[in-house]
Amino acid sequence: LIIGIPRERKLREYRVAQPPHGVRELVRHGHRVLVERGAGVGSGFTDTDYEAAGAELVDDAEAVWSQSEMIVKVKEPIESEYRFLRPGLILFTFLHLAADERLTRELMAREVIAIAYETVQLPDGSLPLLAPMSEVAGRLAIQVGAYYLMEPYGGRGVLLGGVPGVAPGRVVILGGGTVGTNAAQMALGLGADVLLFDINVERLRYLEQILHGRFQTRVSSEQVIGEAIREADLVIGAVLIPGARAPKLVTRQMVRAMRPGSVIVDVSIDQGGCVETARPTTHDAPVYDVDGVLHYMVTNMPGAVPRTSTFALSNVTLRYVLELADLGLVAAVQRDRALAKGVNVFRGRITHPSVAESFGLPY
Ligand code: NAD
Repeated sequence: LIIGIPRERKLREYRVAQPPHGVRELVRHGHRVLVERGAGVGSGFTDTDYEAAGAELVDDAEAVWSQSEMIVKVKEPIESEYRFLRPGLILFTFLHLAADERLTRELMAREVIAIAYETVQLPDGSLPLLAPMSEVAGRLAIQVGAYYLMEPYGGRGVLLGGVPGVAPGRVVILGGGTVGTNAAQMALGLGADVLLFDINVERLRYLEQILHGRFQTRVSSEQVIGEAIREADLVIGAVLIPGARAPKLVTRQMVRAMRPGSVIVDVSIDQGGCVETARPTTHDAPVYDVDGVLHYMVTNMPGAVPRTSTFALSNVTLRYVLELADLGLVAAVQRDRALAKGVNVFRGRITHPSVAESFGLPY
């Protein structure tokens, strides 16, 4: 197969769909890989690295798209890329179509075979291509929280780990899924005092078994969350109700009761946020202040660490890229039900129930 890897065009997107070692693997399987010049630079890979891995470098995006049978990307095509979409082209990338009617209609009208990373789903319901980005965001949440807790950045001047004879900082984590668990691991690694909430007692039971240190769990309820938030130095929002907006667990009143210079990192902001005072921010201006409490609300946190994120994402996408390329689309989706769930648009029709439902279209 001829596989194309264009440079990402979305603002401040520095990830690339495959690093050179992924390209090498595809070439080893007998495929041709066309990489747009400069595609890897944002993640620290040079054109020479790709050439050494067996890629054919191509000067511009148009040539990559038009000469490839399958395009592998990170983010959905933006408007300037719509003109490259054509019948029969396989597009494998994050798409988030339920939130993007315009793109959905373009993919249908142009008869692209669109496979979305975020809907590839294993039989146990888990989303293997989303998990690594939650891992990155969860770990990063503690790193940025620790940073903004420092006085020069507006924080209350607390070192999360404390020192001998001095109490550590208190981290409250709302939600114990992938983001919350990774945040807890990092906070515990720093020596912080961690209190984690979830509504799923089974999950809390499991976390208590695997995590060690100054770690406690509670079942989510308004009163207990309110009490915990008041004492927190750092609050991490990490809840998810799949397909729905995040529940508002932290009210404006609770924020007002926090100590000045405390920090809230709401990772669930991409689903609306679980804090009443949350509104989306960007890497250019990541924080704002409400009642003296710093709010970090960046919707694409993994974008801050593109090199790590590129490895994390490509680690899990490569096997599916190989399946599609080695077996061909039909055999690959027949053999792998998880991959089949990733197919969102096929021959001008929506083939994923929740995407169809979002637009009231037939499925
Ligand atoms: P997950 O499904 O693994 O975990 C969510 C957890 O929230 C579950 O354990 C669930 O039981 C719990 N939960 C649901 N309702 C709750 C409540 N009322 N109180 C306490 N816990 C509750 O999801 P995840 O992968 O950890 O993702 C969490 C959020 O982070 C999602 O919204 C995801 O989209 C987002 N995210 C954001 C970024 C970013 O850059 N901002 C990056 C990755 C993920």
